[in-house]
Amino acid sequence: MVVAGGGPVGASLALALRGSGRTVVLVEPRARAEGPLRPVALSHGSRLVLERSGAFARIESTPIESIHVSQAGGFGRTLMRCEDHALPALGYVTDASQVAGTLLEAATPERLPGRVASWEDAGERVAVAIDGEHGPRRIAARLLVLADGGRLAGDDLALRDYGQTAIVAIVRAERAHPGRAWERFTPDGPLALLPFGGRSDDAHYIYALVWAVEASAAARLAALPDDRFCARLGERFGRRLGRFVAAGPRASFPLRLWFRRRAHADPRVVAVGNAAQTLHPVAGQGLNLGLRDAAELAALIERTDPARVGDDAFVSEFGSARRIDRYASIGVTDFLVRLFSNDDPLLRLARGAGLAALDFLPPARRLLARRMMLGARGSP
Ligand SMILES: Cc1cc2nc3c(=O)[nH]c(=O)nc-3n(C[C@H](O)[C@H](O)[C@H](O)COP(=O)(O)OP(=O)(O)OC[C@H]3O[C@@H](n4cnc5c(N)ncnc54)[C@H](O)[C@@H]3O)c2cc1C
Repeated sequence: MVVAGGGPVGASLALALRGSGRTVVLVEPRARAEGPLRPVALSHGSRLVLERSGAFARIESTPIESIHVSQAGGFGRTLMRCEDHALPALGYVTDASQVAGTLLEAATPERLPGRVASWEDAGERVAVAIDGEHGPRRIAARLLVLADGGRLAGDDLALRDYGQTAIVAIVRAERAHPGRAWERFTPDGPLALLPFGGRSDDAHYIYALVWAVEASAAARLAALPDDRFCARLGERFGRRLGRFVAAGPRASFPLRLWFRRRAHADPRVVAVGNAAQTLHPVAGQGLNLGLRDAAELAALIERTDPARVGDDAFVSEFGSARRIDRYASIGVTDFLVRLFSNDDPLLRLARGAGLAALDFLPPARRLLARRMMLGARGSP
């Protein structure tokens, strides 16, 4: 089979299939997994998925022991703690490129430097056209897996533009609550501070910042000198971590919801990860969902007779297997962005009441945390 894309999701699929006896050709234009920092919080469920292939221990990460959720300019907050779930951590903060690099190194699939350009139905096979590093190539495969992060568009797409951009940076704060991640909803968009490696040499605390702001204001905000950027961040986040004293280079990501209505695209073609759905980063669902896509696909490939991999029954079984988890994750993420990214006083009141209720109702909090960690089906 051909896997288009060696990001963290394509790499995790290749790794899950290592030793299965199936031929995997991974097409990826970049020689090494690198790019701007994309901090990701791997859930406990993703840890379980990555432990199956022995990869989790190789990924450098910072555990999240508690998550504090609040809203700017309103009452109500909730705190989720790992001890309430009898877990060592609720999640693990790392960088998406680092995950991809580590998984690819362990997977050692047959690699073809280049890009998948197009494909066409060829009966028992799909004919994949590749713009290879050494010129164009064609490969006939039983299955093409799109793991290209959504660059290869299709005609079965749904789209919502949130008008927000995420500014990402490493920042340093005067104080810390060890192992605590912060999610603060502001009228412009949610702001997350994720613990990222502990203390710096100058004894400050290091956080990965993911700050969603109105798209029209993002470039100006990101370009502010470091001290003014830190001051603006402090105004938005508050004083729980003292002052922000340093900010590293900023990267920006436009935020849109984008998904294929069906995870099986054309005959003999399926999509996983961001190629199937690209979500807003609020609540950190995108990669976790993508890793579940890849794990489910690997399991289906392994239990299917090789001659039947990619046929109509196979692709529709994969689509059905992923439907509930995909749509639930898309729905929850979209709901959170739209509920919290506004300044409506009535909604602010309702949100505050919701957060306070969560704080007083441990079973509801546990249910929510379980859903976020394990997906809609409650298992990794
Ligand atoms: C600011 C931010 C914060 C986030 N935080 C979280 C979080 O906390 N938790 C979480 O779970 N998710 C988070 N996400 C989402 C997460 O980063 C993505 O869901 C995940 O990285 C997607 O991985 P992927 O492998 O599907 O795609 P990508 O990482 O985009 O990889 C796609 C790969 O395909 C390659 N490619 C592109 N075109 C082609 C082609 N034509 N042929 C072959 N290869 C091709 C690319 O070079 C790339 O290597 C966040 C996202 C952002 C932007």
